[in-house]
Amino acid sequence: MEAEADVLDAESAKRKRLDLEDYKLALDRHAIVCITDADGRIVEANDLFAGISGYSREELIGQDHRLLNSGQHPKSFFENMWRTIGAGQVWRGNICNRRKDGETYWLESTIVPILGANGQPRQYISIRTDITARVETEEDLRGNLRLFRMLTETVASGVMLHYGGQLIYVNPTVEKITGFSREELLAMEFYEIAHPDSRAALQARGAARLRGEILTNYFEYRVNTKGGEVAWVESRAAVTEYRGKQALLGTFVDITERKNAEEAQRQANRILTQIIEGSPVPTFVIDANHVVTHWNKACEQITGFSAADMIGTSNHWRGFYPEQRLILADLVVNGASVTEIAGTYPGKLHPSPLIEGAFEAEGYTAGLGAAGVWMYFTAAPLRNIQGQVIGAIETLQDITERKRAETALQHAHDDLERLVRQRTEQLAQANFRLEQDVRQREQAEVELVRRNTELTDLNSRLGEAQAQLLQSEKMASIGQLAAGVAHEINNPIGYVHSNIGSLETYLGDLFRILDAYAGAEAAPAADPPMRAELQRLKAELDLDFLREDIPKLMAESREGISRVRKIVQDLKDFSHVDSSQEWKWADLHMGLDSTLNVVNNEIKYKAEVIREYGVLPQIECLPSQLNQVFLNLLVNAAHAMPEGQRGNIIVRSGLEDRQVWVEIADSGSGIAPENLKRIFDPFFTTKPVGQGTGLGLSLSYGIVQKHGGRIEVTSEPGRGTAFRVVLPISQTREGPSGE
Ligand code: FAD
Repeated sequence: MEAEADVLDAESAKRKRLDLEDYKLALDRHAIVCITDADGRIVEANDLFAGISGYSREELIGQDHRLLNSGQHPKSFFENMWRTIGAGQVWRGNICNRRKDGETYWLESTIVPILGANGQPRQYISIRTDITARVETEEDLRGNLRLFRMLTETVASGVMLHYGGQLIYVNPTVEKITGFSREELLAMEFYEIAHPDSRAALQARGAARLRGEILTNYFEYRVNTKGGEVAWVESRAAVTEYRGKQALLGTFVDITERKNAEEAQRQANRILTQIIEGSPVPTFVIDANHVVTHWNKACEQITGFSAADMIGTSNHWRGFYPEQRLILADLVVNGASVTEIAGTYPGKLHPSPLIEGAFEAEGYTAGLGAAGVWMYFTAAPLRNIQGQVIGAIETLQDITERKRAETALQHAHDDLERLVRQRTEQLAQANFRLEQDVRQREQAEVELVRRNTELTDLNSRLGEAQAQLLQSEKMASIGQLAAGVAHEINNPIGYVHSNIGSLETYLGDLFRILDAYAGAEAAPAADPPMRAELQRLKAELDLDFLREDIPKLMAESREGISRVRKIVQDLKDFSHVDSSQEWKWADLHMGLDSTLNVVNNEIKYKAEVIREYGVLPQIECLPSQLNQVFLNLLVNAAHAMPEGQRGNIIVRSGLEDRQVWVEIADSGSGIAPENLKRIFDPFFTTKPVGQGTGLGLSLSYGIVQKHGGRIEVTSEPGRGTAFRVVLPISQTREGPSGE
């Protein structure tokens, strides 16, 4: 029985071992298995472990799991693991490891501690499965979810999710558009936020979608905001599944501004229509497709076409022209340039100075009115808010009257211009004649001026001649007088002089007789009464004094008579009474030098003589008379030196214009201007009485004039005087000075 029992036990054990091997086999096929010792060193690793780690079993055995550590887990992760398994408890978790080639992989791990007899873990068995793909999928999903949330949270469109009523998701834009908070919205039915007018339609559309019907892509409806205002939204919706149930995912954008703008546009259009219709100015409007949108009453009236005929057509040209053509409004809509449309309105088109893109033109429309009408067209572009041209408005103005007035004005203007031309021509002719007159007068004036200058010149020369004549006349009459006086005095003086000589002789004789009488008187035989009478007479008459004084009186008388004779001689010389001298060719420098010698005694104490002779030819002259002139001038120059001062006398000479000149200039006291005119007058002298006869210069004047020359004087009081004697080289045949 025992043996039988042992056999049974052995078989049972064998079966169990076989079962265990089957388990292990199955486990090795299914899971990544490894066994470590209590310190975590690998003692066994199956093929799946080696395969997924990239290491061979040989490389793994003896290593610990740090070999596979990916660095993805914090230290606390492994601390927790070790704490759990160290306490003999099974640890479960997902570990991220790194393969030999560097790639990471995820393992869902179970570590089972195998306890030893002491109750402590003696080894650990880890059983794992590869969950890398799942982890990555989950990672992707999480990423997508984050992205979706970010998108819906930041998108400008409202996003919401509902199951046909109760809202289960709203994004911040829904909050912004409606003014309700997310919490408030999630407590509301979707249709509650719609305006009552839109609610039924929205509910119907939602139900239809959930039934699978296909609807138009978008729908505009109004939303009630928390603040009581109404916002317009444009909505799109799609059916989706959320948490196993059909749901409606709706998005919408706020179009309130656009709606308001459209409303404003409609209002503006209404106002524009009213303005155009109410305007008395013929006006029509076309849109961007050249279709008439407005044709007002005034336009109907002027063109004869009603608004009903025109609006909605592109026949606006018919209002003005018989054949079809583009008119100003069409050209403005097309954005034409001036050059492109100039041909349509020749010479009468220009861009508007006020409105950009607008044009103005004038044109004659023969079909309007009874006899055609002149029109002024103005077409301006109509633009939308983006500035694009969406049409054109054209206004018309009948300017026929103005044109008529312009034509009349033009005629008047032409007449005026003709008149102006005529008058201009007449004026030009008058001007020409006037210019001729002026020219003639100018010539006459020039002639007059010339004649006047000539006359002035002549007059001046006449004045000079008259002055000279006066001076000569004066001198001539003075000369005549002097000659007469000299002649009359000469004879008496002659015999007085002769008589004085005789008288002196006689007086000598008389004194000798008196001496003889004086001897007789002293003789003893002299009659005493007679002697007494003689002595009384001698005493009474002061005979001694007479004897002494008579010779003196005689000498004085002789001296006086000599002086009178000298004066008479000078007068005769002055009046050319004595013309016995002969004309000779002489060197003036020699005459000057001999005269200077003669007067040397007179000059030397008063002045230094400086000779500055030029080169002179011999001249035909009366040398001794010219010497007399030089003598007078030199002596005068010496006398002009202030008392006690020694000055200079410069004697110059030169040849000029076939005339010789001799200048005697002194540095003396000069001549007062009032005396300068009189210095050549006979007997004029500034010298003290008895020192000058006043005849020297008048005598010199006469001599120089006799030579056909002239004598000039310049003087500056205090600085000196210069006399210049100018003489011709030769004398004329008629004889000098008219002798
Ligand atoms: P370590 O210094 O190794 O450990 C961190 C902390 O864990 C220590 O501060 C200490 O508190 C505790 N600890 C470490 N060793 C011991 C020990 N012998 N006894 C008690 N406590 C200890 N690591 C992986 O990265 N990948 C794996 O697949 C993996 N599988 C493992 C399977 C088993 C059966 C066991 C026992 C361990 C496994 N480990 C695995 C853990 C590995 O041994 C290292 O502890 C881990 O890799 C951290 O290494 P470390 O150098 O950063 O820190």
